[in-house]
Amino acid sequence: MVRTGGCRCGAVRYVLDAEPIAVRLCWCRDCQYWACGNAAVNLIVPRAAVTVQGELRGWNSVADSGNAMRRSFCPACGTQVFSEATANAERMVIRVGTLDEPAGITPDTVIWTDSAPAWATLDPSWRSFPRQP
Ligand SMILES: [Zn+2]
Ligand SMILES: [Zn+2]
Repeated sequence: MVRTGGCRCGAVRYVLDAEPIAVRLCWCRDCQYWACGNAAVNLIVPRAAVTVQGELRGWNSVADSGNAMRRSFCPACGTQVFSEATANAERMVIRVGTLDEPAGITPDTVIWTDSAPAWATLDPSWRSFPRQP
């Protein structure tokens, strides 16, 4: 199934032409910044299956996992669209909220529960990891 998405203002658009490898909630402290205090909902996908139109800006940092990461966002509206471990050429992350139709995507895994707040609701049917699996 081909999925499409983009940033809130429409300046950045992408096409995903592969099924997701995984759908994960991430409670790492970095994701809490991007997701406004909540967990980020992340689609792990093959990089080769993503085609992007429009200009993204990136910010590089070292994540809690120790991985060097690049987070890409629309410079006009600020929407976080992608993140990727710079050492991992195979996979990247799409922020599920940027899909045109996010309703069809259901998480099955939650990671970094160690840094989730006490009020976080974790579905017991999800695979759960206290830190980076
Ligand atoms: Zn935008
Ligand atoms: Zn995270």
